[in-house]
Formats: sequence, structure tokens, C-alpha cells
Amino acid sequence: MPRVTFREERCKGCGQCVIACPKKIISFSEKLNEKGYHPATVTEDKMKDCIGCASCGRMCPDLVITVEK
Ligand code: SF4
Ligand code: SF4
Repeated sequence: MPRVTFREERCKGCGQCVIACPKKIISFSEKLNEKGYHPATVTEDKMKDCIGCASCGRMCPDLVITVEK
């Protein structure tokens, strides 16, 4: 099953990955990271809908996202 992980401390909350995801499963976390942004994430219940397309990782300007297939 595909899985995405976010290096949340590097995220600047730009939302590019949220827009890019064809399954619309990426959202912003309630918590703040060290930079003071709400980092992008995929919650455990949404992860099962990930198709491993890696659109999110390609769009992220800060290399926050790793996609495993
Ligand atoms: S790999 Fe594709 S489906 Fe999965 S979170 Fe990223 S953009 Fe969405
Ligand atoms: S594209 Fe990268 S920096 Fe922007 S919100 Fe998504 S994970 Fe964060």
C-alpha cells in the first residue's frame, strides 16, 4: 500500500501539495511546526486512499514529502 510521509518541521504551509493531490487527502495539521506553520499531512484514515502517484512530492518546493509505493 502506498504511503506518504512528511518532514513536518520543513513545511511552510504553502498548500501546493494539497492542490496537487488527485485524491484530495492532504490537509493541514492542527499543530504548529517549528517555523510556525500548520504542516501538511495525511491522516491515518485517509492514507488508505493514497494511490502513490507522487504528485504531492513533485509539487513540494521544500522536499518535505516522501512517497513509498
Ligand atoms: S501520492 Fe498522490 S494520492 Fe498520495 S497523497 Fe500524494 S498526491 Fe495524494
Ligand atoms: S507543498 Fe511542501 S511546503 Fe507546501 S504545504 Fe505541501 S508539504 Fe508543505
